[in-house]
Amino acid sequence: MDLGISGKRAIVCASSKGLGRGCAMALAAAGVDLVVNARGAEALEKTAQDIRDRYNVNVTAVAADITTDDGRAEVLEAAGDIDILVNNAGGPPPGFWTDWDREDFIAALDANMLAPIAMMKALVPDMIERKWGRVVNITSASVRSPISQLGLSNSARAGLTGYVAGTSRQVAQHGVIINNLLPGLHATDRAKSLAEATAKREGVSVEMAEATRDAANPTGRIGSAADFGATCAFMCSQHVGFMVGQNILLDGGAFNSTM
Ligand code: NAP
Repeated sequence: MDLGISGKRAIVCASSKGLGRGCAMALAAAGVDLVVNARGAEALEKTAQDIRDRYNVNVTAVAADITTDDGRAEVLEAAGDIDILVNNAGGPPPGFWTDWDREDFIAALDANMLAPIAMMKALVPDMIERKWGRVVNITSASVRSPISQLGLSNSARAGLTGYVAGTSRQVAQHGVIINNLLPGLHATDRAKSLAEATAKREGVSVEMAEATRDAANPTGRIGSAADFGATCAFMCSQHVGFMVGQNILLDGGAFNSTM
């Protein structure tokens, strides 16, 4: 399918690895020029070069922490006119509900709620001016179905979801479409370390822990960065002009509900 976005320009935050990288790859395949970002310069430059080698698009790499004012300023300075924004960052640490104090919540809100809001506030006005824009916020399946030990993530991402619900409806009349993409378990570094922790806890091999995990999903597997990127690219395409403020759960059917 032609996504109709060849020649557009996108920022994909937190995109040297994992889901962000999958989104950057899929947008590049659709002919989108990119600004990619992560804190670690080495992996970021490698990803930028991989994308340049594979697709005939311009890629600017900005090594910066997207959860800080300075980091966002660096990314925005390098960006120029942006048509597509994919918001992403690392997730907060797990724990128990009594573990978390005000500072922990502020850090989680900064990273997973206020950083994406700041990026939207910086870029959406120009999208409105040009009467076209797409924003996809990478949140989590935990917005639909809480993961108890991820209380910081559940809280911060719920806040972002509430903001997007209202804001998306205020800007849609100007051709700017904002939606959230909720990953279930995908095969990134994080999934690997979760499987290693399960194997250790249960005294089984990592392969066994991964096989048990995969069998629990209706598809018999977990998602890939390519699965995720393809859905993200569609959500950035010309075809989503009537899809506003939605929370798209990409989990292979793991969340068991009729609707
Ligand atoms: P990942 O494989 O660990 O990749 C994270 C990427 O983000 C890396 O490129 C990392 O590079 C970059 N990054 C992290 N913090 C950053 C920051 N402050 N500023 C700029 N770049 C940053 O993670 P992932 O699995 O793709 O997950 C992405 C998001 O989806 C996370 O918020 C995660 O909680 C959420 N999620 C993932 C899954 C899953 O199954 N994978 C499921 C639900 C939710 P540097 O470390 O070099 O900065």
